[in-house]
Amino acid sequence: MAKIIPACISGEENLLVVIIDCNPVWWGRRQQQAAEPAQIVLSHCLDAIQVFVNSYLMLSHKNRVAVIASHTSKTHFLYPKNMADPRLDQRRGEDGRYEQFATVDDTVVEEIKQFMTSDTTSRELKTDTLLAGSLAVALCYVHRLEKEYQAGQQLNSRVLVIKAAEDSPSQYMNLMNVIFTAQKQNVVIDACILDKESGLLQQASDITGGIYLKIPQMSGLLQYLLWVFLPDLTMREVMALPPKVQVDYRAACFCHRTLIDIGYVCSVCLSIFCSFSPICSTCETAFKLAKPPMFKSKKKKRSLQNGGPSTSLL
Ligand SMILES: [Zn+2]
Ligand SMILES: [Zn+2]
Repeated sequence: MAKIIPACISGEENLLVVIIDCNPVWWGRRQQQAAEPAQIVLSHCLDAIQVFVNSYLMLSHKNRVAVIASHTSKTHFLYPKNMADPRLDQRRGEDGRYEQFATVDDTVVEEIKQFMTSDTTSRELKTDTLLAGSLAVALCYVHRLEKEYQAGQQLNSRVLVIKAAEDSPSQYMNLMNVIFTAQKQNVVIDACILDKESGLLQQASDITGGIYLKIPQMSGLLQYLLWVFLPDLTMREVMALPPKVQVDYRAACFCHRTLIDIGYVCSVCLSIFCSFSPICSTCETAFKLAKPPMFKSKKKKRSLQNGGPSTSLL
């Protein structure tokens, strides 16, 4: 059995970035159904996340945390924030709470209140969340912290996405770029799905070696967070975690941004299309083939290897 050294004595620091999907359309619908059992609203979800974040900080003094809110068109850092806010200083230490927990809780609540009420004028509310943007911000934050570290120090980073709204195939390209960047940076992406299965986050977790979990019961969110997502990466090897899901590896076509099973790939720039077109709209290569190939023959394979521009079936 592999010897496991807890991070608290190995000299490494851990960073957890939590991305909360604050899509107002999705949470608004939940608010309407709040009377039904097993439904939670955004404030309950935030409570669970606060307990989870505090538990994570309690595990080791070397654990660091960041919380990011993801909206339909913007991303906002809830924590850490500029600690010079006098309102936070006043409240700290009044009620006997541990100061660091009180700072995290109060900052997150204060920031999310401002964030969710700041843009009520915009009428054009989308139903999808800007997840790719939020993940990119999280990776930038990880990169910045890593640059501050001196040689010999190591930061183990992971991102936990708490996803509510449905997938947005229009973000497919940006999301895939972010996922491969995370893989290169050794950042693990975990996904906790509240509602419908997310093919894009399945791919993100699978590629970066994270855990993907669609929670069976929303009311048990805190239990799932504590049992599955709290232990650090070294502990995962010895834990009995939920079985891996079958990953939906469908790609989105570049023309309509819809997920497709079979499509055409440009041999020059690897763009994916759902129907054959004689000119690639991405790199403007004109293909030699007048008709789309219905099946791959040996002859056509050879012409592909010769490097001539052509399209091929996925
Ligand atoms: Zn298409
Ligand atoms: Zn192309």
